[in-house]
Amino acid sequence: MTRRPLLALLCTLGLAPKVSSAQAPAPQIEPLRLADAEWKKRLSADAYAVLRQEGTERAGTSPLDHEKRKGTFRCAGCELALFSSDTKFDSGTGWPSFFTSLPGAVVTKTDFKLIVPRTEYHCARCEGHQGHVFDDGPKPTGKRYCNNGVALKFVPA
Ligand SMILES: [Zn+2]
Repeated sequence: MTRRPLLALLCTLGLAPKVSSAQAPAPQIEPLRLADAEWKKRLSADAYAVLRQEGTERAGTSPLDHEKRKGTFRCAGCELALFSSDTKFDSGTGWPSFFTSLPGAVVTKTDFKLIVPRTEYHCARCEGHQGHVFDDGPKPTGKRYCNNGVALKFVPA
């Protein structure tokens, strides 16, 4: 018996699996909200300062700036996959840089810490601060996601 007659039979009986014609929705990201004391326990002091207090690590201090293997850069707070190694580039700034994030993984807001407005972005799941996005990146997006290495965790492919 081939697959087609079987499927036709199941359809006749109303048992065929329902296939939605609509595009699959973007993956739903379950928010992770913890008390501040809980974050303090989970994170290193440096990661806490960046992720929970919007600190910035010193340029050139993260080994991930020179990470060149294939893999995924995840949020150090909640492990959500934020960036693919395929979108990483050497910006020469001393911070790991990417020209785009994974779909829906980061959320942006405007901050005025340096008077000139900058676009801050954070993890869509735990709202941990990751870095700032600028419009001087390479093709194809022209964006530069300038990320604190300490806020990321690299998982090789
Ligand atoms: Zn996160």
